[in-house]
Amino acid sequence: MRRAIYYGVLLGLFWSCTAPSKNPPNIILFFVDDMGWQDTSVPFWDQPTPLNEKYRTPNMERLAAKGVKFTHAYSTPVCSPTRVSLLTGMNAARHRVTNWTLYPDQQQPMEKEHPTLIFPDWNYNGLSTTPTVPNSALATPLPQLLKDHGYFTVHAGKAHFGAIGYPAENPLNLGFEVNIAGHAAGAPGSYLGTDNFGNGDENRKVWAVPGLEEYHGKPVFLTQALTEKAIASLATPIEQKQPFFLYFALYGVHTPLMADVRFLSHYESMDLPPEEVKYATMIESMDFALGSLLDFVEQKGIAEETVVLFMSDNGGLSAVARGGEKHQHNVPLKSGKGAIYEGGIRVPMLAYWPGKTPKNQSISSPVIIEDFFPTLLDIAQIKEYTTLQAIDGNNFSSLLKGEISDFEPRPLYWHYPNEWGPSGPGIGSYSAVRMGPWKLIYFHEDQHFELYHLLNDIGETNNLKESQPEQVRKLAQMLTDHLIEVKAQMPRIKETNQQVPWPVEALN
Ligand code: CA
Repeated sequence: MRRAIYYGVLLGLFWSCTAPSKNPPNIILFFVDDMGWQDTSVPFWDQPTPLNEKYRTPNMERLAAKGVKFTHAYSTPVCSPTRVSLLTGMNAARHRVTNWTLYPDQQQPMEKEHPTLIFPDWNYNGLSTTPTVPNSALATPLPQLLKDHGYFTVHAGKAHFGAIGYPAENPLNLGFEVNIAGHAAGAPGSYLGTDNFGNGDENRKVWAVPGLEEYHGKPVFLTQALTEKAIASLATPIEQKQPFFLYFALYGVHTPLMADVRFLSHYESMDLPPEEVKYATMIESMDFALGSLLDFVEQKGIAEETVVLFMSDNGGLSAVARGGEKHQHNVPLKSGKGAIYEGGIRVPMLAYWPGKTPKNQSISSPVIIEDFFPTLLDIAQIKEYTTLQAIDGNNFSSLLKGEISDFEPRPLYWHYPNEWGPSGPGIGSYSAVRMGPWKLIYFHEDQHFELYHLLNDIGETNNLKESQPEQVRKLAQMLTDHLIEVKAQMPRIKETNQQVPWPVEALN
C-alpha cells in the first residue's frame, strides 16, 4: 500500500512537470486529390466566380464558417511530390520525388522520350525510412512522429507515397497504424462498388483499390466506402481516449471521372457536358464525406477537441479527360494540374482549430504544402523531435490562431525537372519562386522567364519580364540560391548533354 502511494506521488510530480496544460487535440486532415481552387461553393477569391456558383459544397461552407480559409495556399503541380512534402516537410527540390510515382526503379515512360531534354535520375521510388531503398527520399514521416508521441494514426484512401514493391507503397510502413485502401497507385481502377473498385480486371490490376471487399458488388461509391471505414476506425482511439490523427486522403476527384449517382439530380438540368456532370457529382460526394466526418465528431462530443484541416494536392485537372474546352477549367486561374501557373498549384484550404481559429476569417498569407509538417506537430504539442531530413516548411500555427495576420515575406519554391505526360500552357519542366506578389517562372526547355504580379494579374496574362528587369534578377538569384542549397536536380539538354543552366546563368 505504501509503495502504491509512493508511486502515485512520483507519478503526480512527473505529470505536473511535463504534462501540457491541455491534452493534444485530435487532427483530421481532409485531403482531396486534384481538386481545383474554385471547385467549391466557397469563394477563395475576393469575389464569387461562375465555378463557385456551379459547385455545391455546403459542408465546406460549414467548415469555412467555423474557421479560416487560406486564399493563397499552394501544393505542387502533381500528386506524389505534394504528398511527400506533406509527410516530410521538405520542399520538392530537396526531396527529389519531383514527379508522380508508380513503377519501381525507373523514370516514368513518357520521360524517356522527350525531344530536347534528358531528365535527372529523380527519386522515383518515393519516400523511405531506411537508406537501403535506392532513388528515394529518406525521412522521418509525420505519422511516425505523431504515433511515437501517443497519437492513433489512420490512413484512409489514396496513399501514393512510393513505388510498387518498396516499403513506402504501404502506409503501415510510414507510421500509420491503420491503412484503409492505400497503396502505390495514385488513382482508383473504379469508384464503383458494383465494379469491385477495379478488382478482377486484368487491365486495371495496378489501379485496383485494395481492401474494401465488403463493398464489392454493392452500389456504393468509393468515397462513401472510405468514409464509413474511416469513421469505424476511430472507435478504438475514442474509446481509449487517445488522440487520433486521421489522414483522410480521398481518391476523388481524380480520374476516372465517374458519377456518384446520389448527387446526379443536382447537375443534370444544368447545361453541362456529361463529363462535367460526373465531375460535379464527385465534388459533392467529396463534400458529403467531409460533412459525415464533421457530423461524426459532433455526435461523439469531440468536435471541440478535433482540429480539421482541408487541402488539395494540386490544381484542378484541365489538360485531359474533362468536358468542354481544355485548360479553361480554373479560369480566372491559368491552366490546371501539371502546370506551374496558378491553375496548377493554387488550391482550396480550410482550417478549424477549436478555441484558436477565429470564425469565418480569410487569410491571404501564402502557405505551401511543406508547411503542414511543422504545423501539425505544433498542433499536436510535439515541441521536440528529431528527423532524418531537413525541414523547409514554416509552422503556420500563429496564422491559425490569429496572432499574426501575415508571415514576414518569404519565398515559396517549386521545382519540376520532369515530364508529366499531357501538354498545355505552363506544363513542362520548370522551376519557380513566389515572393510577395511576384512570381518568376523559369522554363527549362528554352530557358525563358515569365514574371507576374499575382495581386494585379491573377490570370498571369501580363508577363512583366521586360519592364521589371531588377525584379527578375532578384528572384532568379533567390531561386538559384535555393536550388543549389538543396542540391536540386536539373535536366540536361539532349543536344549538348549540358545541364540546363541555373536561372541566373540563363539571364546572363
Ligand atoms: Ca493529385
